[in-house]
Amino acid sequence: MRVFNFSAGPAALPEPVLRRAAQEMLDWHGCGMSVMEMSHRGKAFTSIIEKALADFRQLLNIPEHYQVLLLQGGALAMNALIPMNLLGQKSVADYVNTGEWSKKSIQEARKYCKVNVIASSEDRSFTYIPAEDRWQPDPEAAYLHICTNETIGGVEYFWVPQGTEVPLVADMSSHILSRPVDISQYGVIYAGAQKNIGPAGITFVIVREDLLDRALPITPSVFHWKEQAAAASMLNTPPTYSIYIAGLVFEWLIDQGGLAAIEQKNIAKAERLYAFIDASEFYYNPVELSCRSRMNIPFFLRDERLNEAFLKGADERGLVQLKGHRVVGGMRASLYNAMTIEGVEALVAYMQDFQQHQT
Ligand SMILES: *Cc1c(COP(=O)(O)O)cnc(C)c1O
Repeated sequence: MRVFNFSAGPAALPEPVLRRAAQEMLDWHGCGMSVMEMSHRGKAFTSIIEKALADFRQLLNIPEHYQVLLLQGGALAMNALIPMNLLGQKSVADYVNTGEWSKKSIQEARKYCKVNVIASSEDRSFTYIPAEDRWQPDPEAAYLHICTNETIGGVEYFWVPQGTEVPLVADMSSHILSRPVDISQYGVIYAGAQKNIGPAGITFVIVREDLLDRALPITPSVFHWKEQAAAASMLNTPPTYSIYIAGLVFEWLIDQGGLAAIEQKNIAKAERLYAFIDASEFYYNPVELSCRSRMNIPFFLRDERLNEAFLKGADERGLVQLKGHRVVGGMRASLYNAMTIEGVEALVAYMQDFQQHQT
């Protein structure tokens, strides 16, 4: 029996995608081998990667003058690759600090340049996003970096910063494909795959073409955006099986009606859980209403001594991976695209039962 998996990542995949991959495991479309066994330069795999990229572009409505690169090393590698690829002649970059992932990006960037933290929500434990009129961007910065969904703190941007001329760089790892995005407002968008795209192992990078010329000479070739763009992300062997599964996820998303349709489902799922938490005296969520993430919902039991019992009971009902991140504690339910409303209803029903048995 499959459980309801609330993991923050690697996360649940749509069941139809897993079934299709199982069917095609031994023999992909009559070619007598698994996708895992194919040459990455052969006809069959070329058709798989081209279809995956075309569907990704269609889903996000990516303009012609943006390249989509498939890299490795995860979003964490990007923390170094962003400055390496974007600094050019400059030596300063702006960052907004809204949580644990922003902090990691800032720490890594400091190895390569001077980092201005132009706004931070650390003063209130990362439970809000500082209003843009209080940011102090440097017009000389090479770029401005934000994390548009903080997976650990559960804080999400529902607006796009407008106050700077420098390229806007966004870590969208944990909410890409959860709703439509106006790509043209960004210089670079990146996302590790294992939250809302597919299996771990690929990083999607969407980069405006005029930004491909700024890499430091020391940038390794496989991480050099311009070189990878020229090689169609095949400078070295890409993670072929992960790309294939991501492609199946994109087909599934298109079948669901695309991102506008999936956004409505994500709103319904998140509202159901937040409404229950807010109405309860037993549980709470500390994040400001205007920036509560639809994808990652941390919540706490007012009596923390009950945490172990809560998690044990949840496991017994097939509601798994609800333990909060160690730096925040408490609980966290991640409701990515693949999480069904039935899963959220089952969680709410359990939370209600658990509360009743304690009070
Ligand atoms: C998970 C995550 C990362 C790290 O991704 P890796 O693939 O493990 O490198 C970075 N940023 C955000 C917002 C994430 O959710």
